[in-house]
Amino acid sequence: MKKKQFKAESKKLLDMMIHSIYSNKEIFLRELISNASDAIDKLYYRSLTDKKVKVERDEFKITLSIDKENRTLTIEDNGCGMTEEELETNLGTIAESGSLAFKNQEEDKKGKKAQQEVDIIGQFGVGFYSAFMVSSEVTVESKSIDSEKAYRWVSTGADGYSIEECEKETIGTKIILHIKEDEEEENYSEFLENYRIQAIIRKYSDYIRYPIQMDVEHRHLKEGSKDEYESHVETETINSMIPLWKKNKNEIKEEEYHQFYHEKYMDYEDPLQVIHTSVEGQVSYNALLYIPSHASYDYYSKEFEKGLNLYTSGVMIMDKCSELLPDYFSFVKGLVDSNDLSLNISRELLQQDRRLQLIAKNIEKKIKSELESMLENEREKYEKFFEAFGMQLKFGVYNNFGMDKEKLQDLILFHSSTENKLTTFKEYVSRMKDNQEKIYYACGETIQKIDLLPQVEQVKEKGFEILYLTDYVDEFVIQALMNYDGKEFINVSKADLNLDSEEEKEELKKENEESKEMFDRMKEVLDKQVETVRFTNRLKNHPVCLTSSGNISLEMEKVINAMPTDEKIKAQAAMEINAHHPIAEKLKKLYKKDKEGFENYTKVLYAQARLIEGLTIENPTEISNLICEILSK
Ligand code: ADP
Repeated sequence: MKKKQFKAESKKLLDMMIHSIYSNKEIFLRELISNASDAIDKLYYRSLTDKKVKVERDEFKITLSIDKENRTLTIEDNGCGMTEEELETNLGTIAESGSLAFKNQEEDKKGKKAQQEVDIIGQFGVGFYSAFMVSSEVTVESKSIDSEKAYRWVSTGADGYSIEECEKETIGTKIILHIKEDEEEENYSEFLENYRIQAIIRKYSDYIRYPIQMDVEHRHLKEGSKDEYESHVETETINSMIPLWKKNKNEIKEEEYHQFYHEKYMDYEDPLQVIHTSVEGQVSYNALLYIPSHASYDYYSKEFEKGLNLYTSGVMIMDKCSELLPDYFSFVKGLVDSNDLSLNISRELLQQDRRLQLIAKNIEKKIKSELESMLENEREKYEKFFEAFGMQLKFGVYNNFGMDKEKLQDLILFHSSTENKLTTFKEYVSRMKDNQEKIYYACGETIQKIDLLPQVEQVKEKGFEILYLTDYVDEFVIQALMNYDGKEFINVSKADLNLDSEEEKEELKKENEESKEMFDRMKEVLDKQVETVRFTNRLKNHPVCLTSSGNISLEMEKVINAMPTDEKIKAQAAMEINAHHPIAEKLKKLYKKDKEGFENYTKVLYAQARLIEGLTIENPTEISNLICEILSK
């Protein structure tokens, strides 16, 4: 029998497969099963138009068998089969998708080869030749629907292939893989383990529409015995065949959705929301999406990878297609199945695929509208969602220079001082007073602490609602938004709140002018730690507080300086003293008569203001001593 050589291009791709360093070798099975499924499709379609071709649809199947002794894994289908010529052209010549991959590689510089190889195998469907990643020899026996005779194609890869006539009763193709011997760093024998093959089928080919069958051994106790086992072998269908997402929505029970979620996405808790959609149009697809009820342990870490499983015609082509989800919805799990996408498409080409982009856009809209309706109709559920993933939405508001802020702003919740629960900006604005121009907010570690801030007092007293910001990202969110519905945001700690009446302002101005010298002295005593010291009307019961002007608030100073970088920032702080508090008079007196007492009071007041703000004091011992000194007078 004459040995034939592979076409030059095919040979190179083949070499690559034989010497592959690609670690994800298991995908060969996906490729062979998907070829088998295609072949069955072809035969079936043929039967629809060709009366001579008679088939029973429920007899179609793909059968796998393992022979450990001879180290073979066999994949058999009863599809259309191949003629002698087809064996020659289909398996002797590289397929189109492969040649594309190959050309790309040729264009690249030599040094990059190893990495290139991994990319190509990982990203392109490399088809039939991938069998050589795990096999030392591949035998294909096939009988075509168009031929009386059957043929055997055999190749060990490198030195070409041979074709000869053989015995085969039924129409279809049988592929026998001689699994390679184990090497130091490669375990090929795993592909001779029944459970491993089953797992690979479930992982990649679960939704192939034809049954993938295997003999499975079951061991059980012998009847009447306590320690003697016997086993029997049963032929089982390994794949589930009908994808859940392709079933009719009202035929699916909630438990089924949840079960699928638990198994596929390894979450023991039920999802918060299931989104199942089927879209027909410019591009058609089914999507089954889940919003988890809690963030996974790695969700907010850099190890986390977002993405949806991508299927085409029941075959998974990508495990985590990140293009399908924007970062701010990265918590969504699930899959998309579209027959409009081709199986053998590279990741790069897929990213640019207009259809994929269209699907991604639709999915984003769908998730957003689901969240909006949850917010509107199932508030409690939404708040649970927000507790888990609100942080991600907030990142979304200020990431990319606030590009997506308008999309997300209505999904954000903050605690409200008047409602004493979470509120949206929209709800806040709807409650705004006629004379209220701005949206007030205050920052702090906890709601309780914020509520006690002296700066909060005056705003509350005027009857204005305040949003309480407790996450370190919150103020960045507000800064990115700048305004909502045309209403500016303003921090209650901002120096120029402008809540006083003209009269009050006038009076305060006078008092401040009168005490200017005293304040200058205080600044000196504080060693210029504050830019200004002044009287204020904003305080009611509290004696003193800190405020800031400029873009950096005291809270931001705290957050940023707590980060492990060298970059330290400083807010432009002012110490404001309650003009109507007895302490004001006391200070004035001391300034005139008791130089040392005045200095001590100044220091203690400043320390107080910092502590209230949640800031640390540099010299606690000194302050403690000063307080004792004052107390004992
Ligand atoms: P692709 O599937 O991308 O075309 P492959 O290298 O996997 O590339 O297969 C090449 C061709 O060989 C297929 O297009 C098909 O015509 C034929 N082929 C492969 N496997 C089978 C099979 N099990 N039955 C019939 N034809 C097959």
